[in-house]
Amino acid sequence: MSAKYLNSQPAGPGTLEGETQEEETAGASPSNVDLPRLQRAVRELLFAVGEDPDREGLRETPGRVARMYAELFSGLHDEPREHLRKFFTEKYDEVVLVRDISFNSMCEHHLLPFMGQTHIGYIPNGRVIGLSKLARVVESVSRRPQVQERMTEEIANLLVSELDAKGVAVVVEATHTCMTIRGVRKPGSICVTSALKGLFRSNLSSRSEIMQLIYGDRR
Ligand SMILES: [Zn+2]
Repeated sequence: MSAKYLNSQPAGPGTLEGETQEEETAGASPSNVDLPRLQRAVRELLFAVGEDPDREGLRETPGRVARMYAELFSGLHDEPREHLRKFFTEKYDEVVLVRDISFNSMCEHHLLPFMGQTHIGYIPNGRVIGLSKLARVVESVSRRPQVQERMTEEIANLLVSELDAKGVAVVVEATHTCMTIRGVRKPGSICVTSALKGLFRSNLSSRSEIMQLIYGDRR
């Protein structure tokens, strides 16, 4: 399998630096993305759909797409937990909500983007986190092959485990290009997922308070 891969290798000037013959191990390092391998794969993909990757307009495409994928999947090399370790201690036990944290992710079933907004609310239990850190967590969790349901759950669980929050509510609203440009082609449809933990799950008034805060002036 790896031999087939190597056959369509561009070689020469188009090859990215750091190229290695160790096909199977080259991408193994968690700290970097195997750009040459990505580049070969994109070239192969172009061949497979009946294109000529050597025509002028496509010549730079494999390299460009390789770098783009490295960016879109950069979360794979980031530990979202780390962003939550720099909390500060505060005697504040009311709801904290950050609304409309925008994100872009890649649906792992089609490798097509889905994008939208994440709302994160929590009731601290002595530990409060910088607001930008929540955005970092969203970034880290979304920049990888993902499904929206899991992403929602992952963010909520991270807040529960790292902040020991009394309640956590995560709501994600997204449009999926795999729904809009292919398959059923339903542009405009929005997928909403939510994960409620602790007080937001068990206490009805806490739950309606957070939903009111998230949706209040919009619905
Ligand atoms: Zn999909």
